[in-house]
Amino acid sequence: MASPAFDNSYARLPERFYTRLDPIPVRKPRSLAVNDGLASEMGLDPGWLRSEDGLAMLAGNAMPDGASPIAQVYAGHQFGGWSPRLGDGRAHLLGEVQGPDGRHWDIQLKGSGQTPYSRMGDGRAWLGPVIREYVVSEAMQALGVPTTRALAAVTTGEDILREEGPLPGAILTRVAPSHLRVGTFQYFASQEDEEALATLLAFAIERHYPGLAKDDALGFLNAVMEAQVKLVAKWMGLGFIHGVMNTDNTHIGGITIDYGPCAFMDAYHPAKVFSSIDQFGRYAYGAQPQILVWNLAQLATSLLPLMGDDTDKSVKQAEEVLRRYGDLYATAWKATFFPKIGLTGDDDSDITLVQDLLSRMAENQADFTRTFRAIATGGAARDEFVDPTAFDAWAHVWKDRVTSPDHDQMSGVNPAFIPRNHRIEQAIQEGLKGDLSLFERLNAVLTDPFTDQPDHVDLQAAPLEQEQVTRTFCGT
Ligand code: AMP
Ligand code: MG
Repeated sequence: MASPAFDNSYARLPERFYTRLDPIPVRKPRSLAVNDGLASEMGLDPGWLRSEDGLAMLAGNAMPDGASPIAQVYAGHQFGGWSPRLGDGRAHLLGEVQGPDGRHWDIQLKGSGQTPYSRMGDGRAWLGPVIREYVVSEAMQALGVPTTRALAAVTTGEDILREEGPLPGAILTRVAPSHLRVGTFQYFASQEDEEALATLLAFAIERHYPGLAKDDALGFLNAVMEAQVKLVAKWMGLGFIHGVMNTDNTHIGGITIDYGPCAFMDAYHPAKVFSSIDQFGRYAYGAQPQILVWNLAQLATSLLPLMGDDTDKSVKQAEEVLRRYGDLYATAWKATFFPKIGLTGDDDSDITLVQDLLSRMAENQADFTRTFRAIATGGAARDEFVDPTAFDAWAHVWKDRVTSPDHDQMSGVNPAFIPRNHRIEQAIQEGLKGDLSLFERLNAVLTDPFTDQPDHVDLQAAPLEQEQVTRTFCGT
């Protein structure tokens, strides 16, 4: 059994990129989950992760040889307000490994104790958000959405204090190709540290967009935009609401990061918000595409110093890149939604067919996932509508347009299973009582979300009125 063969390329960057420090040990760690499949993908030995030494690493109690723990610094706009210094306030990047396929993986503990970036926080996480992130991030992967992953979760044997009272502490091992955010660029830009900015750009390009020249700031902006547009279109196609699309939670590699207050919608409505701190609906479902372009504009601003000495020219060039956003998003939206109703082309004249369905769903509180799945399988989609005839009228037009729907194709893009909020909540409540069976069942079922699984129809059901979760909390 072998411990991870760590490399530490980020820790070799200049000191101002991070603070070196070990995680803070915890009293009595116990394993909640080890993700064997992911461990193998990463070239790690799942047996070692389950060993005493493995558990000690996953709890932050003892670092294996080669690890070089750091907390990364970044900044960001939170709900539109500028925070000049955020950084890993409760996370430690232990190091990086390379999988058998050559991919790089950062291994990070989240909930592993205070750092210089903790501000008022305790550096810890409790069981609830760790369960939520584990289930949802792995489900996203299976649903085909780029995401940070969950390698493992442990409980710490220590209580932490939250508004609700004392709660069991937990640590998630999050892995990702990097943890670079728009906010990482914003941090060095706001410090007017052009040298660091150039170093960061070269690092980010090598890690995420190796086809680009190491100093191609415009190309990089364009590449991040393309990746993020595809990502957000996928969220939209699954009814996913990120909930905290701050620039520090916008990943440079175009992957989903930060599962604090996220949720999949049950009943569809574009104005839907779950996050308890999003009072004005800034990050509502339907607002996500516009927020993305706002965040990309912040990235563009940060990169300007790297685009040459003629600022006016740089601004114009950056604007030109950002101006492509509208078309890119429209294309990504069609590529997401058209196949959901069996449309194979990309003809703009079909847009109204999708939009008409969505507005009827909104008016009739139709469950997003169940409606599309029923359309895909030829099931009773009309039953999802308060007024079923509202669906019938749409279906009449649809059947004229899609005369021989390909049910296999549609079933491959309209999942049967999503991590429903009320089930996650239930898994957390049962987890608090020491029962992990629902947590484990969710993980198992959600590895195959596009296949009907008759033994688990309860996980397909929309919540009953008393089961509905309307608020999620920022996970801290
Ligand atoms: P988030 O809202 O999760 O994106 O976090 C925003 C910032 O708050 C980041 O710098 C986090 O590291 C920090 N943070 C969140 N929760 C905690 C905590 N419990 N202790 C310390 N820092 C935290
Ligand atoms: Mg965050």
